[in-house]
Amino acid sequence: MTTPEYDIVVIGGGLSGLSCAYTLLKEGYSVCVLEQGHIVGGAFQSFNRRGARFDTGFHYVGGVRKGEMMYPLISYFGLDNLPWKRLSDECFLELSVRGRMFRLRNGFDNFRNDLVKEFPDEADGIDAVIAVLRDISDHMYDSLALDWNIIDSDWFTTSAYEFLQEHIKSQLLRDVLCAGAFTTELTETLPLYSFAQSLASFIQGSYRMSGGGQRIADTLASEIEALGGTIITCTKVSSFALSSDGRIEAAICGRKRFTAKQFVSTIHPTLTIGLIPETPFVRKIYRKRMAALKNSVGMFTTHLLIRKDTIPYRNCMLAIHGSDDLWHNSFEAQDPVREMLVNFNLQEREEPFVRDIDLLTPMSWDAVKEWADTVRGHRPESYEEFKQKKARESIALAEQYIPQLEENIERIWTSTPLTYRDYTGTVEGSAFGVRKSSKNLMGTMLSPLTPIDNLFISGQSMTLHGMLGTMMSSIRTCSIICKKRIL
Ligand SMILES: Cc1cc2nc3c(=O)[nH]c(=O)nc-3n(C[C@H](O)[C@H](O)[C@H](O)COP(=O)(O)OP(=O)(O)OC[C@H]3O[C@@H](n4cnc5c(N)ncnc54)[C@H](O)[C@@H]3O)c2cc1C
Repeated sequence: MTTPEYDIVVIGGGLSGLSCAYTLLKEGYSVCVLEQGHIVGGAFQSFNRRGARFDTGFHYVGGVRKGEMMYPLISYFGLDNLPWKRLSDECFLELSVRGRMFRLRNGFDNFRNDLVKEFPDEADGIDAVIAVLRDISDHMYDSLALDWNIIDSDWFTTSAYEFLQEHIKSQLLRDVLCAGAFTTELTETLPLYSFAQSLASFIQGSYRMSGGGQRIADTLASEIEALGGTIITCTKVSSFALSSDGRIEAAICGRKRFTAKQFVSTIHPTLTIGLIPETPFVRKIYRKRMAALKNSVGMFTTHLLIRKDTIPYRNCMLAIHGSDDLWHNSFEAQDPVREMLVNFNLQEREEPFVRDIDLLTPMSWDAVKEWADTVRGHRPESYEEFKQKKARESIALAEQYIPQLEENIERIWTSTPLTYRDYTGTVEGSAFGVRKSSKNLMGTMLSPLTPIDNLFISGQSMTLHGMLGTMMSSIRTCSIICKKRIL
């Protein structure tokens, strides 16, 4: 048998693949990352059009500064010197809900006091919510202990929906508390932890990145190369080669083979299992379970290039909730655009006016399924018409909150769940990977271990998504590989 080329091959060069590679290199392994795209980043990729920079996935994140929730990760991954832009402490989020506007301030105390002022009868419930947010922000890293077990945690076995129903009487207040709803999918079984972890981090402090998500991905990639790691782009893993003892010998990419002692797959788990040839080491029931995983909703994004010096830059996010029931929403083709997150993209050079704006609205896979077999660049006219209709609806909704928006649009580009599927390989174009459920933790919160001895999984589909969740999941996988707590 020939000596494997690397200690570890990582499949996928999105945030998780890069985080795993960086961590494993720091732990002394030799690592190679294989990425199908021509650049790294996955949903952290940005793209340039006519001198403006748009983001695909990542737009904003919470808790970056020292003392805030994500700082230990930011510091570990060497991202603390990047040009983070803190959103306004006086209003990090403008929120439209049930026809009313709320301007949310940073800090647990400010957040609590502002809500109690608006909803004086709900003080006890608000305090119960704030207590959970504080608790999770203080103890989030406990989950990185090697002996941590998800089913022992009430934060995971309780659903956010049930928790809010129990503690908050006012529907309006419950909706206001869903301020972070665009960075997680609201379903009745969304674990309280997933909901509270992102909300808590945004309340501590919200940030954009000058240069977009790509800057984060590129910084990690440079560090990986500086640590002696290898990143190979335009290289899609199509299968694994197994040895007779049921271990993976190589990742196969066309005619190339990449051999390693261990493999970490950060692509969607359903796709990962599809890479393993038939073998008695992987039981049918496991394959069936992975194939049946339900996915979170996708996104339709309208990227707008704005005429110079027309629309002022806003240093806050704008979230619009137009539906009556945020927890049971439908995002099918026929449903009008009602829910939207508006991001005023930050350019490399700070300007008083915005040059590009992204309008993000949830969209189900079913809405684009009829074009699933078509190829990028050759989709039929009906798909273009559908995208134009959704873009018009999105702009009309945003115009209600951004005066003169429509007349100042220079160019429009759009992306659908189909676009995300084709660029990042996420199944059904889902924005946040596998849908997690407090009622089925073992089936939806995946372990880094697989039936194949030397294959581990990571990525947003494991336990948590978003920058915070994906980096946490990556550290967890690496801790298991290294058999020691890393952070
Ligand atoms: C529209 C949208 C908005 C979002 N907004 C935010 C936000 O504001 N803040 C935030 O924190 N998070 C946000 N997220 C979520 C965040 O972007 C993701 O949780 C995170 O990027 C997931 O990283 P990942 O590495 O797990 O997956 P991905 O980014 O999907 O990376 C997987 C990588 O694997 C590659 N790949 C797939 N198959 C193969 C193969 N066979 N061989 C080789 N390579 C392969 C893909 O090309 C991709 O680069 C958003 C996501 C979306 C879609």
